[in-house]
Amino acid sequence: MAKKRRIVIALGGNALGNTLPEQMAAVKITAKAIVDLIEEGCEVVVAHGNGPQVGMVNNAMIALTHEDAQQPNTPLSVCVAMSQAYIGYDLQNALREELLNRGITDMPVATMITQVRVDENDPAFQSPSKPIGKFVSAEQAKMMEENFQYIMKEDSGRGYRRVVASPKPAEIIEIGTIRTMVESGDLVIACGGGGIPVIRQGNHLKGASAVIDKDFASCLLAKELDADYLIILTAVEKVALNFGKPDEKWLESVSVKEAGQYIREGHFAPGSMLPKVQAAVDFAASKEGRTALITLLEKSRDAIRGTTGTTFHL
Ligand code: ADP
Ligand code: MG
Repeated sequence: MAKKRRIVIALGGNALGNTLPEQMAAVKITAKAIVDLIEEGCEVVVAHGNGPQVGMVNNAMIALTHEDAQQPNTPLSVCVAMSQAYIGYDLQNALREELLNRGITDMPVATMITQVRVDENDPAFQSPSKPIGKFVSAEQAKMMEENFQYIMKEDSGRGYRRVVASPKPAEIIEIGTIRTMVESGDLVIACGGGGIPVIRQGNHLKGASAVIDKDFASCLLAKELDADYLIILTAVEKVALNFGKPDEKWLESVSVKEAGQYIREGHFAPGSMLPKVQAAVDFAASKEGRTALITLLEKSRDAIRGTTGTTFHL
């Protein structure tokens, strides 16, 4: 039998929804798309984002400090850990059910609580850029700056939001365990929300106040697992040049060199499409035969068959 193609899938916001009921419904659709790939003969590893969920957990933990003066505020790394567990819980149940519905009874599904080491000297710590949580008034923002030492920024006339650092992932701490589980045929969910950011202090791993971009963490996971494909599932079927403009052009197959040119020309929005294209290029450039794909969740089977999506290759 031919070796199975190994795929790391990075799920974006639209695969998980924004609220508890939305997530419960969304993971059912997501599970179908993932099991489609398994039925295509692929070995799948799942990674995912956590934007709305980590904001939600963070807000809930702030509310707790208002109720009970004895409660200190919860570190962001702990909020990421909570979001991994909550999303993993919904995803692994939906995947298990979908596998059983299709008669696949021999594939255990498990979520790995994953820590990802970041460099404490990463320049991202000096310029927090990633907004999380809900919008608040100027007054509330001032209170949060004073009480929690948060950095609050005004966001395009809509109010203030907390911004956090988004450093690059340097090392997946649990990679050995993830690899063992994948090698034994388990369906593994790992690096949720980009991983829990930690800084190494001797033998101690200290939680960092940051949120790692899931596109970069998934890329590192795919390289570490020597995957054949990195598939980034998002809200568009393909990546475009001149996105949203009259001369918009949807891309099908892009070389690493061409993608570099398009990045320099500014075709991809920072904070949304840019990190995806950067992660796709990084993966495709890392070794001959590695392919990255950006497409819609519902189109992942067509994309792996080569009929849609944007493909990145050396
Ligand atoms: P995710 O939650 O999957 O990370 P994002 O909203 O962060 O999703 O990023 C996907 C979005 O990027 C698309 O829905 C689209 O609006 C936007 N986008 C920006 N530039 C481009 C581009 N050049 N081509 C396609 N989509 C783009
Ligand atoms: Mg995003």
